[in-house]
Amino acid sequence: MKCRECAHKLEVLRSCRRIRLRCTGCKREYQIHEVASDLDPETEKLLENYTTIIYD
Ligand SMILES: [Zn+2]
Repeated sequence: MKCRECAHKLEVLRSCRRIRLRCTGCKREYQIHEVASDLDPETEKLLENYTTIIYD
């Protein structure tokens, strides 16, 4: 999915027990709940791998 600020691609960033989406352009980090309504299928699939961590 795309960054709201600059439209670059967001990548899943895992740090410790938290998951963030980080923009590859402006490096802005989004919490999952911030972008939950905008998640595209590709990103959702990526996040499925981290479900146990997100909701732990
Ligand atoms: Zn950005």
